[in-house]
Amino acid sequence: MPVIGAEIPSGYIAIDGDRIVAVGSGAYPGEGERIDGRGCLATPGLVNTHHHLYQWASQGVAPDGTLFEWLVASYRLWARMDAEVVHGAATAGLGWLAKSGCTTASDHHYIFPKGRGDLFDAEIQAAREVGLRFHPGRGSMDRGESQGGLPPDEVVETRDEILAETEAAVRKYHDPSFGSMVRIAVAPCSPFSVSGRLMVESAELARSLGVRLHTHGAETADEDEHCREQFGMLPVEYLESLGWLGPDVWLAHCVHLTDADIRRFAATGTGTAHCPSSNGRLGAGIARISELLRAGAPVGLGVDGAASSEMTPLAGEIRMAMLLQRARYGPAALTARQALEMATMGGARCLGRADEIGSLEPGKLADIALWRVDGFYSAIDDPVVAFAYGQTPPLARLFVGGRTVVEDGELRTVSDQAAAEGGAMAHQRLLRS
Ligand SMILES: [Zn+2]
Repeated sequence: MPVIGAEIPSGYIAIDGDRIVAVGSGAYPGEGERIDGRGCLATPGLVNTHHHLYQWASQGVAPDGTLFEWLVASYRLWARMDAEVVHGAATAGLGWLAKSGCTTASDHHYIFPKGRGDLFDAEIQAAREVGLRFHPGRGSMDRGESQGGLPPDEVVETRDEILAETEAAVRKYHDPSFGSMVRIAVAPCSPFSVSGRLMVESAELARSLGVRLHTHGAETADEDEHCREQFGMLPVEYLESLGWLGPDVWLAHCVHLTDADIRRFAATGTGTAHCPSSNGRLGAGIARISELLRAGAPVGLGVDGAASSEMTPLAGEIRMAMLLQRARYGPAALTARQALEMATMGGARCLGRADEIGSLEPGKLADIALWRVDGFYSAIDDPVVAFAYGQTPPLARLFVGGRTVVEDGELRTVSDQAAAEGGAMAHQRLLRS
């Protein structure tokens, strides 16, 4: 199903190299290797717009805490992470995403304890091994407890270090070319862990380097209160005052938006990474997603870090988003097709790649998921309903740039066992180090 454009009940997708070269009805008239997709629904590969891969190693912490309680409990664990923890956690986290239909993943890594190896490089290597398109955000925190921030001082860096390291990461890894496998974003953590000056200078740096900007925003009621007390404004007003709304910005969560915020997001083209399971887990609230979509603002889906949405599959967030919007606004609030579009084209818009990924059209990258909607699922006539409403159907194949990453539900680039063991090792290492 192309998402944007006509749905094809029975047809073909032709791939040459890493691109889609033709899409049509009936049998493909040309030559070449054939993969039989009978009984399957083809969708664009899913796009994950928000994650903290390292958190695979710290799942299950403060299971009933608020965001701030959970953060305070987690910071001390995270202060112990090293490059091996990040590599193992990222391999498990990216493998898990691939197994739930994700072909492009962003990450938001903002903790760099000193003397623990090259953490950013460790996750980029993991993404290369698993074979997903990767958009890591070089995150940061410079506002520790002694500055009125939430994180302990030992996990924050200085502004000069952060800006220098971020620029170096962009120069080393960012590939702006069509079909790129790695693009870097500048991603300070949040208004309650980052100084206003670093937010402003981060935005200037990103814009001078031509890369995108990402941070958390308007996640919880506690954050509203914090921003009112510290800055005399609500979170989105504060972000706007720092130059942080625009078509090159996407923000995680955006649960607590005012009517004026929604209009500003639409007018400026600011993207939202909607993470419904995490919002539910932390009791943050139900984001005003159907209103953002109606206003025309870009919205993608994200799983958020594994520590606030334990083992959440990306395809499952389609269902979660649909159900939560309906719980708040009624059954017509978000259709299965709108939710699928959010998980594909919406994510592509947030990451600035709408011309490369997010739909199945000739000229775009061959990032494709084949979902098995036969068997038990064949009792539902509409394959998109079969895909979106209940338990996600099995993943028959996942292609990233035409390369098979998952086949019959199992990873083909690294092994399922190696990815799972990487995650378990990271967890043990973090607890014991
Ligand atoms: Zn997050």
